[in-house]
Order: sequence, then C-alpha cells, then structure tokens
Amino acid sequence: MQSIFQRLLAMLLCVCFVFGVFPAFAAATPTPEPEPTEAVPYYRVGSEMIYITATGKRYHCIDDCGNTQIAFLVSLEEACRLGYTPCGRCHPTPAVPADANFTLPEGAVIVYLSVGDECYHRTAHCGSMENAVAVTLEEAVYLKKRPCEKCDPPQ
Ligand SMILES: [Zn+2]
Ligand SMILES: [Zn+2]
Repeated sequence: MQSIFQRLLAMLLCVCFVFGVFPAFAAATPTPEPEPTEAVPYYRVGSEMIYITATGKRYHCIDDCGNTQIAFLVSLEEACRLGYTPCGRCHPTPAVPADANFTLPEGAVIVYLSVGDECYHRTAHCGSMENAVAVTLEEAVYLKKRPCEKCDPPQ
C-alpha cells in the first residue's frame, strides 16, 4: 500500500516537474533579446539599399551603372542625406526628404564629406567645400574617401 503511495507520489512529482517546475524555470530565464541593429551601421539602415560611388554625385539601383567601377551600398535615406541625387540612367527610387531627427552615433569620430569630393575633411569648411555633411570616420573609410591633405582629418 505504501509502495503504491510512494509510486503515486513519484509520478506526481514527475508531472509537477514536467508541467509545472520546468516551464516556470524556462519562463524565469527568457532567451535574451537580439541586440538592436548594433551590427548594421547607421548608413545601411533604411527603407532600401542603393549604390553610391566615392566621386559620383548620383545614386544607383545597380552597382555597375555606366562606367561605375566601385560602388558602395548605403541606405536610400543616407544617400539623400549626403546629397546624392537619383541617376538618370538606371532610374533608382526617387529621393526621399531628409530625416529631421537623424543623429550620428554618439561618441563616434566625426568627419565631413561633400558629394563628388574624393576626400573627407576635419572641418565642414575646408577650402571651397560646399554642402559638407557630417559622417562618422568609419563611414568615410567605408566609402573609400581619402583623408584631405589640407585639413589633415583623423584617420
Ligand atoms: Zn545609375
Ligand atoms: Zn580638408
């Protein structure tokens, strides 16, 4: 009689463990949330990816438009923020208005670019540069821009 009781108790404990304790334990340690887009740099976060070149002034929907040699993938939003305009040959998605709330990553090294200029700069007003846009040094390097020889930006 007692052994049946013990067996029942053991079964009950098993049932408790499988259906009660274990799910509770699992719920207590939820799988960690995936890191927010940390791995994707800001210039590749957007509604659509398009191609730009280091010295061109247009953005493209293909990476080998015209005589394009090396194209870099950035978001449509970033291309428009930098001042690139849609290519008339490959007809990419029309330009989008700049995001007024855009901010560069905190603590990043900031340099300046101007569309069509193969260099990046320490200041927004180097030489006769117009329409300079602040970017991170990482982005300038990603776009294969050269450090300007005049203003000696960080490298
Ligand atoms: Zn094109
Ligand atoms: Zn410069």
